[in-house]
Amino acid sequence: MSALLSDASQRLDRALRYLDLSEDAILHLRSPKASLSVSIPVRMDDGSLQVFAGYRVRYDDTRGPTKGGVRFHPQVNLDEVQSLAFWMTFKCAALNLPYGGAKGGITVNPKTLSPMELERLSRGYIDAIADFIGPNVDILAPDVYTNPRIMSWMMDQYSIICRQFSPGVVTGKPLAVGGSQGRDTATGQGAFFVIDTVMTSQGRSPQKTTVAVQGFGNAGAVVAMLLAEAGYKVVAVSDSHGGIYAKQGLDVASVHRFKQENKEIQAVYCQNTVCNLVDHELISNEELLNLEVDILIPAALENQITEQNADQIRASYIFEVANGPISVAADDILATKGVLVYPDVLVNAGGVTVSYFEWVQNRSGLYWSEATVKEQLREKMVQETKAIEAVAKTYQVSARTAAYIHALNRIGETIEAKGSRRYFQNHR
Ligand code: NAD
Repeated sequence: MSALLSDASQRLDRALRYLDLSEDAILHLRSPKASLSVSIPVRMDDGSLQVFAGYRVRYDDTRGPTKGGVRFHPQVNLDEVQSLAFWMTFKCAALNLPYGGAKGGITVNPKTLSPMELERLSRGYIDAIADFIGPNVDILAPDVYTNPRIMSWMMDQYSIICRQFSPGVVTGKPLAVGGSQGRDTATGQGAFFVIDTVMTSQGRSPQKTTVAVQGFGNAGAVVAMLLAEAGYKVVAVSDSHGGIYAKQGLDVASVHRFKQENKEIQAVYCQNTVCNLVDHELISNEELLNLEVDILIPAALENQITEQNADQIRASYIFEVANGPISVAADDILATKGVLVYPDVLVNAGGVTVSYFEWVQNRSGLYWSEATVKEQLREKMVQETKAIEAVAKTYQVSARTAAYIHALNRIGETIEAKGSRRYFQNHR
């Protein structure tokens, strides 16, 4: 069993301790509903043929069609795809989206392919899995190294196969082919709503709250900018090359602008077109994780906080914007240190939530304004954050276990509604 799958199953076991879930529901959740492995032949630009391995796993569809991203990465394998599909099941249930969980991927380094080879591979993947997916069955989305253009090719290929325009089979599409306003910033925006809700409930003022963000990418940069706009003091950010720290707080919008223009992180303050360096220290990614700040936001990669470094963490709160940045062993160490961890299944769920909005818009044919998307997202993130906090209080458990309990309750309820052993025994 992979480390990812073992972590996932340990977290399920922890939540199950607190619930009187029927045996049927537990059995349902122990194994994926369907896993598909495919070979995708692709004609390369030089005329040769290469065959790529692809996967799609539909973990559980108790609550609706399955939903999950497609990852293009050299390390993609069936085990990883299964664990990510399992996580999606919980994320969708925790946010009360009418979906089950799925995931897909192709074992490939997309940087080695030309744009035309990438298009043929994306369309070939859909040719191979078309019978397994659909707007009412299983809906795809972007993940690591896949983007709106790839989603557009995938949706187009599915539409060609079905002989009808089918935008609802894929989310994260460009606006011109049925994408949603606000999808590109949804993960960071959703994370901001979660963090702000938690801080407000703890009676903390933004001005007195310091923040460090590891990973100044799509998700990390947006949440850092929104926090700074709301008055939080973002003192450190980093990317794969290292980080910057400024005790007085960074002007995050300037740092972001500089990164967009120059592809590097610098502690700058920009006025009109002129950017000047401000007082700062250069720090490594390890140093960023160990900073004495109120909030630490891992927004880069998995497994950044493990039993090797968990003891050195000095933040009071961690909000997981990245997927799986903290190992199970590290979770236990952080808990004994009193660090409050808010889990990925809640914190980064803004992305899948706006994907859901995109699917709703595709099915109704009525498209929402950016303000409507933002307001609907706010409502959902605030509501589910408060619900998970209430579960944590009732059961005296971590926010992570509470999020799993919250999701499991919903999945269990749906299974019960269809009749479980308990029901059939009592109504013989
Ligand atoms: P991205 O590629 O845009 O950004 C990742 C950032 O992390 C980049 O700035 C990169 O330089 C930096 N980075 C890479 N290695 C690093 C390291 N060792 N230390 C510090 N920084 C490092 O990716 P993203 O879309 O922002 O996703 C980031 C995380 O959020 C991933 O775990 C992803 O699964 C998760 N996530 C993203 C979304 C989304 O919609 N973007 C949704 C859900 C979850």
